Amino acid sequence: MTELERSIIAKVRVAPGERVRLTERDTRDSSLFGGEKDTKAATAALAKDIDALQDRLYAEGSRALLVILQGTDTSGKDGTIRTVFNATGPLGVTVTPFGVPTRTELAHDYLWRVHAACPRRGTIGIFNRSHYESVLVEKVRNLSPPDIVEQRYDQINAFEKHLVENGTTILKFMLHISKDEQKERLQERLDDPQKHWKFNPGDLEDRIYWDAYQDAYETMLERCSTHHAPWHVIPADRKWVRNAAIATIVKATLEDMNPQYPKVQWQPDEFTIS
Ligand code: ADP
Repeated sequence: MTELERSIIAKVRVAPGERVRLTERDTRDSSLFGGEKDTKAATAALAKDIDALQDRLYAEGSRALLVILQGTDTSGKDGTIRTVFNATGPLGVTVTPFGVPTRTELAHDYLWRVHAACPRRGTIGIFNRSHYESVLVEKVRNLSPPDIVEQRYDQINAFEKHLVENGTTILKFMLHISKDEQKERLQERLDDPQKHWKFNPGDLEDRIYWDAYQDAYETMLERCSTHHAPWHVIPADRKWVRNAAIATIVKATLEDMNPQYPKVQWQPDEFTIS
């Protein structure tokens, strides 16, 4: 891992048990990167590196990487996926969005649908929202009783430990935007006809609960950033910073995993292709 990668990770990673105050974390911070143009070019190169590493992960076929993206509406979860994984071969990547649970999903425990969507060996799984909605929207909107929500932090840590011990590396990113930035992005969705489809009046309702959500995020970060599955708080007001930070961490993690092409039991010169 390079010094730059190490310093980016150190800046955004939440230590286990660390008390997080989101208001103290600058959503516009770009101090770890150079100018916008160079950083965008570097991110494009990282996307290619991620593809090459993913090819090795797929060939190795024994481990997986799970990338979890959480953030308020308009925080850029879709945009992150589009940029960071735009060079990754579709063969080895799955993206799973988690919306309001269906009737079938509600008939099971909240981790049922999540476990079923976890990446198979050799692949990268990306969660667009995740099981963390069970301690975010369900907490803020009182969709589940407080004592049930309270139990979930430990349950989630145990679940993620189980995944890690069974060959899945987990990276969790919270896309941290300011309330003002969200206002601008929502307004863009109203102003630009090509973005109308993205506008959901329900997002305005969630905005009313902004402070309660920030509190719920802080608790989540404090209680569920673990050695085995760390949370990262990504400054996300500037899209190019957000993309660069996440691409850097994904690439450094895959490099650390160091997947290997399997050794074959034959020599190429044993064969002649007629
Ligand atoms: P997005 O906003 O991520 O682009 P959607 O418009 O489909 O995608 O929104 C997904 C919605 O599903 C969000 O409002 C989110 O809060 C909600 N959701 C996800 N998980 C749960 C859950 N466990 N309980 C209730 N609502 C949930």
